[in-house]
Amino acid sequence: MREILRVQKLGKNLGGYLGETIDIRAVLRDVEIAAQQHGWSSETFYDTGEFKLFALHRKPEARSQKSEARIYISTGIHGDEPAGPLAALKLLQENNWPENAEVFLLPCLNPIAFTLNTRGNSIGIDLNRDYRNPKAAETRAHISWLERQPKFDLYLCLHEDWESHGFYLYEQNPDSKISLAEKMIEAVQKVCPIDLSENIEGRPAQNGIIRPNILPLERPDWPEAFYLITQKSRQGCTLEAPSDFPLPVRVNALIAGVNAALASYFL
Ligand SMILES: [Zn+2]
Repeated sequence: MREILRVQKLGKNLGGYLGETIDIRAVLRDVEIAAQQHGWSSETFYDTGEFKLFALHRKPEARSQKSEARIYISTGIHGDEPAGPLAALKLLQENNWPENAEVFLLPCLNPIAFTLNTRGNSIGIDLNRDYRNPKAAETRAHISWLERQPKFDLYLCLHEDWESHGFYLYEQNPDSKISLAEKMIEAVQKVCPIDLSENIEGRPAQNGIIRPNILPLERPDWPEAFYLITQKSRQGCTLEAPSDFPLPVRVNALIAGVNAALASYFL
């Protein structure tokens, strides 16, 4: 426990993310290698020549007798949030999925932004505000891929927040299904501090959990999660790692959150 409590904010992020960056080409190369090794299929749905956007797919194991569920996991939509693609890579390498999980994993939705260390794409569009009336080619390609997919039982979007005091998450659960949020926080707090602020990003929060009371139809600038909750899924979480902490801590926080969500969902 003492080790954990020693994890402190680095104090680097002044006005934005100023921590380590990643070689996104190398990370995505490793992602493809790990996916191939573990029998995932890969579909490219957008290609600029320099970078491609791709979706990985894992079928539930044939021997599984349990009921199956479809899980959607995406990350890398903001290029100044390197822990997401690294967590996707590690999750693939660890290959520790519930046997009855069908998983759709999008390891990086905005690769060019990682070469620029920017939130937006190459022309400054924040893709995560572009899902209602999409302007960016990347968003359009992603939505048209999503339209071809079945509905998901659960979605998880992996992000980072440059100014938060610890990990937190947003949970969308309009049908009041069994919440996964508390279990996720319980798991993450073993590896990363939780942001205990009562107000995070202008929304009431409790023990690192924000349950936004938002009507997507009243907002013009939809993040990916709004598209997912209105079109593709009835339950999901957006995970936010604190990017002013050491990178390995943030990667482990996202992984612990994903694994706890899956473990509780497939209980
Ligand atoms: Zn983000």
